[in-house]
Amino acid sequence: MKPATAIINSNALRHNIQLIKSFAPQCNVLAMVKANAYGQGLLPAAKTIEDLVDGFGVARLKEGLEIQESGYAGRIVLVEGFFDRGELLKTLSRRFDTVVHCIEQLELLETVAREQEAEQQKSFWKRKTRIYFPVNVWLKIDTGMHRLGIHPEQVELFYQRLKACSLVKSVNFVSHFSRADELDCGYTEKQIATFEQATAPYHELRSLAASSGILYWKQAHYDWIRPGIIMHGISPHSTPITDLGFKPVMTLASSLIAVREHKAGEPVGYGGAWVSPHDTKLGVVAIGYGDGYPRNAPAGTPVFINGRKVPIVGRVSMDMMTVDLGADSQDKVGDEVILWGEELLIEEVATAIGAISYELITKLTPRVIFEYR
Ligand SMILES: *Cc1c(COP(=O)(O)O)cnc(C)c1O
Repeated sequence: MKPATAIINSNALRHNIQLIKSFAPQCNVLAMVKANAYGQGLLPAAKTIEDLVDGFGVARLKEGLEIQESGYAGRIVLVEGFFDRGELLKTLSRRFDTVVHCIEQLELLETVAREQEAEQQKSFWKRKTRIYFPVNVWLKIDTGMHRLGIHPEQVELFYQRLKACSLVKSVNFVSHFSRADELDCGYTEKQIATFEQATAPYHELRSLAASSGILYWKQAHYDWIRPGIIMHGISPHSTPITDLGFKPVMTLASSLIAVREHKAGEPVGYGGAWVSPHDTKLGVVAIGYGDGYPRNAPAGTPVFINGRKVPIVGRVSMDMMTVDLGADSQDKVGDEVILWGEELLIEEVATAIGAISYELITKLTPRVIFEYR
């Protein structure tokens, strides 16, 4: 009998990458594997797809180090750049690509470059510090997200200073959409126009599209696409994308550890939050918020057992949850319960909980057993 287990379908992951490439055949693919590859396991995910993609995007230096130390010699991009001088030196020694999104990062890069130039003036035997090779820089432009990035009017200044910096091998452009999943709001068209206007004069490589951009904004594909959630067969919004050919990669499953007769009028669980309106059988499932399943999942949130959906009832507790199997049910202790997967799409679960799929998959805890198939 299995406790909370995430079963990862490696074939589905590879299939989704191929599908993504068919959406943007002329583009390079930067596979976004930040946050433990969206909770799927950083190194297993990276290993599964490394021959299909052109690089990996990470949000933390540590994530990049892990991939490189596992033996990957290809491109790794820090999509928020380095956070301090120590991180910059690591970025340089590991030859990661780095985003530059603010003046502090630019100045730090210039400072280290000047120090290195001074050092290089000395004869080899007198040098105290190591000499770094230049790296690729992705200049992040704020085209409307208003989170990270320089103002479009600052592009010329940053571009010239980066070009003049001896630690910069190439300057590329990147930006991020804030509303690409809303097809009719008009905002994405504005972001694309701003990006195009700010970057067209330079003839450098550009990257704008994450999952929604890849699916819905072909004119924003540019040179590098940056898929994240769709690699896992999950929609960037609440409507599933299985009809486009994507396959869910993760199945989150557990087992029934008890099946109990339950009388109308009896409450179940902490706070007696749910009182049964009918005589029924309750199933107890070995998964709870200690595994990362949201505690705030309301009564009625579906799980999948023996070919059908049944509702969660009562509060999700740390190690368990209770479900209403129905008076005539035949389910037995040991039967498999699917929390999400091909049979019950995560988008439906996320909608019932009032969460987003991104949050559900990245919040699984280390207690969950991972099985790669
Ligand atoms: C996370 C992230 C992505 C991927 O986003 P998805 O919506 O999961 O495809 C792309 N680009 C940047 C800069 C990111 O931080």
